Amino acid sequence: MIKITPIQEAYKKKIERQEKLKGLKFKCHGSCAYTGEDISPGCYGCFYSDAYHRGFLLGRDVGLPNVCNRDCVYCFEPHIVRQDYMPPEEFSLGGEWQRTIQDYLAEEKQMITTGSKMQYYEFTGVCEPLFYISILEEFMRFFRNVVDQFMGTKGWAKVYTNGTLLNLDNILRLKDSGFDEVRVHLGATNFSDTVYDNLRLAVKHIPTVTVETPSWPPHRGKLFEMLPIIHNIGVKHLDICQVEIVSKAQLSRIEKALGNIELYQAFYPVMDDGGLVEDIMREVLDRRYTYSVLDCNGFVKQSRSALSTHSYWSVLNRKYPPEWEQHRYKRKLRTK
Ligand code: SF4
Repeated sequence: MIKITPIQEAYKKKIERQEKLKGLKFKCHGSCAYTGEDISPGCYGCFYSDAYHRGFLLGRDVGLPNVCNRDCVYCFEPHIVRQDYMPPEEFSLGGEWQRTIQDYLAEEKQMITTGSKMQYYEFTGVCEPLFYISILEEFMRFFRNVVDQFMGTKGWAKVYTNGTLLNLDNILRLKDSGFDEVRVHLGATNFSDTVYDNLRLAVKHIPTVTVETPSWPPHRGKLFEMLPIIHNIGVKHLDICQVEIVSKAQLSRIEKALGNIELYQAFYPVMDDGGLVEDIMREVLDRRYTYSVLDCNGFVKQSRSALSTHSYWSVLNRKYPPEWEQHRYKRKLRTK
C-alpha cells in the first residue's frame, strides 16, 4: 500500500531525526546534510549556482539502448538486462555532436557572468556506463581537450557504475581518460565480494572513490556490514540517496517488493526510509570511520533542480563556501 504523507508531517519527522544526530553538519542553507570532513567535490555542483553541470545519461543521450547487467527493484525505468552487452564497435559521437556541444557552450559562456564557473562532467544513466567505456573515453577527450580549455578550469569528471565491470583494465582506462571520481552503487549487487575487490583496486588508481547507494530498507543489514569494509578499503565518501520515484513502473515494482511504502514530496516523491540514513551516519560517527556521509535526500534534488532555472533560490546559493572556492581555484588552467 502506498501512503502519501503530508509534507508537514514528513519534514517534521526528518528534522526531528536530524536534531537527534549530534555531529550532523549542514551547508547550503540546510539542503546539504552530511557528516565527516567534507563531502565529495563531485557533489558541490548540486548545491551552488556557480557550478556548471554537464550530465549525460549514457545510453539514451547518445542514441544507444539502456542496457544494464543488473535489475534493481528501485531502478528508475525499465531497461534491457544483458550480461555481455557490447555497443556497436563503429559507434562514435561524431563531429556533428561535438560541434553542437561547442556551439551550445559558446552561447552559454556569454551568459556566465563570473567567467570562472567550475564545471562538472557527469556520466550516469539507466544503464551500466562501463558497457560504454569507449564512448566515455571519447567524451573525456573532448571535455579535457576542448571544454576545459574553453572554460579555463579543469572540470570535475565523475562516472557512476554498479562496480561489476570495474576491473583493472577499465579502471586504468578511466584513469587515463582523466576521471576524477568513480561512484560505485554497491546495492546493485547486494554488496558482492567481487565489487568490494574492484573497489580495492579502484582506490589505488582513481583519485576519489565514492560509494553511492540508496537507503533501501531491505539493504539495512548489508549497509551496516559495509561501513567498516569501505573504511578499510579507503573509500573517501559515502553518498546515501533516498529512493526517488520517477516512473509508474518503478513505483509498482517497489510497492510489490515492500508491501507498504510511505512517500512525501521533496521535488520528486521521495520514499521515507524510516531513519536509515541517520542511523548510518550515527554509526559512522560513533565508530570514527574516516569517510564523509552525505544524506542525498529530496532536498538535494530540490536544490539541484532549482539551480538549473534562474530562480531566486539560485540567487541565494550563488557562491560556494570559501573552502569549496579553494578547490575550484586549484583547478584553474594556466592561460597563455
Ligand atoms: S545498476 Fe543502476 S541502471 Fe542497473 S538496474 Fe540497478 S539502478 Fe538500474
